[in-house]
Amino acid sequence: MNMPTPSQTYEAIVIGGGIAGTAIIKSLKNNNLNNFLVIDSGNLPAQGTSGHDGALCHPYIGRGASRLQRLSMIAFNEAKQVWANYWSGCGVLHLARNAENHDKNLMSERLLTQGFSFQNAQVVSADEARILCGVPLAGTFFPEGGWVDLKQICRDLFSELSDQQVRMSSTVAKIAYRDKHWFVYDKAQKLLGVAPRLFLASGLGVKSLAASTAIDLPLKPVRGQLSTFKYKKESSWAKSRPSVALSGKAYCLPPVELKDGSYRWMVGSSYDENEEDLNVWQKSHEENLSLIQEMLGNECDPLEIEPVDAFVGIRCVANDRLPIMGPVRGYPGLYILTSLGSRGVMWSALAHQMFTEHLAEEMRHSAFLDARFFAGARLAGLGLSDDLVSALLPARFLAGASNSKPILPSA
Ligand SMILES: Cc1cc2nc3c(=O)[nH]c(=O)nc-3n(C[C@H](O)[C@H](O)[C@H](O)COP(=O)(O)OP(=O)(O)OC[C@H]3O[C@@H](n4cnc5c(N)ncnc54)[C@H](O)[C@@H]3O)c2cc1C
Repeated sequence: MNMPTPSQTYEAIVIGGGIAGTAIIKSLKNNNLNNFLVIDSGNLPAQGTSGHDGALCHPYIGRGASRLQRLSMIAFNEAKQVWANYWSGCGVLHLARNAENHDKNLMSERLLTQGFSFQNAQVVSADEARILCGVPLAGTFFPEGGWVDLKQICRDLFSELSDQQVRMSSTVAKIAYRDKHWFVYDKAQKLLGVAPRLFLASGLGVKSLAASTAIDLPLKPVRGQLSTFKYKKESSWAKSRPSVALSGKAYCLPPVELKDGSYRWMVGSSYDENEEDLNVWQKSHEENLSLIQEMLGNECDPLEIEPVDAFVGIRCVANDRLPIMGPVRGYPGLYILTSLGSRGVMWSALAHQMFTEHLAEEMRHSAFLDARFFAGARLAGLGLSDDLVSALLPARFLAGASNSKPILPSA
């Protein structure tokens, strides 16, 4: 093993230049930890799953106040602030699962018990949705919901970094802890950098890097394809014109009218577990089309629409479907941010706020505080209780000193 030179030694190293890595870099900068290195395999940031320019964001609604529901409400509010400069849209209509039995009163009461208000979550009938959202589909309207360009967020942040802070086109193959420092190596065993703090933010790539230091994380790939369709203004599709984003079995952004009078329409996203193929699949276009057609009531002609573009990405998903974020208990200076699943916008924003607070707390104590993830008084005041923070920590998958038996949370 070669010894580090002073120019290879940093205050922190971040592996991954997607939205997770970007959120962490913002937290380091907030704490004046500017001597960091970010490493990514791509020749530009956000060439992985964060190459998405229309990622939707609205709080999750379920039957009860589950951990996911409570976390998503907090994270949604953080996302609106953290990614405010990249926020587009004027609301999201989340369609009722069973439109025929859509009981407005019951649903409104349920939302109130889950902490929503009439201002931020409006239960609407089909007639009300026609006026409010441009489509006659019953559901819950989130007026503050929207979508963001993840790729642009990453690229803008990287454009502010110096050459010394960024190392692109480098793939990390192994990490090791020695002399109170984390050593980061490429495939040829070449040392890429050394730091007391190491952040693993490489999506699904976190699994093998964590394994290289004996941490077993139950992560799996879920391939997703987003389709951009085109249709003419005379087509049956043009009759249905959502003015807001729709989310349900599929999701779509409002169609964009082009100069020639045709429309471009982003519709997603297929969900193929344990698939990692980045090629565009015709069958995923067909699946997206069939789901959106079903959502809109099967009145449009599939022959009058065609796919013209696609975005394919591999989501990283933990087996309890929650994100993994925070310090790793028993591994001083090691932190993880991954498993953002289909909610990269909101989980990255929540992580950014929490890492900012946690690093500040560590610096106040001049110590690594790996047993807890400090959320700070403001987030605690917004309902980020200890049980919710524990549900995010990597420690939920670590059983004592041995990682062979993951402890799965009940939610
Ligand atoms: C089709 C589709 C639709 C989606 N829609 C939405 C949506 O509507 N709303 C939403 O919030 N989210 C959505 N998501 C999810 C969102 O895109 C992801 O959660 C998010 O982009 C994940 O970001 P990340 O930084 O964790 O991973 P990535 O963006 O994949 O970044 C990981 C980075 O690590 C690098 N890397 C990997 N391994 C190594 C290594 N060994 N060494 C160096 N670098 C490495 C990669 O090059 C990559 O740049 C969607 C995802 C897909 C696929």
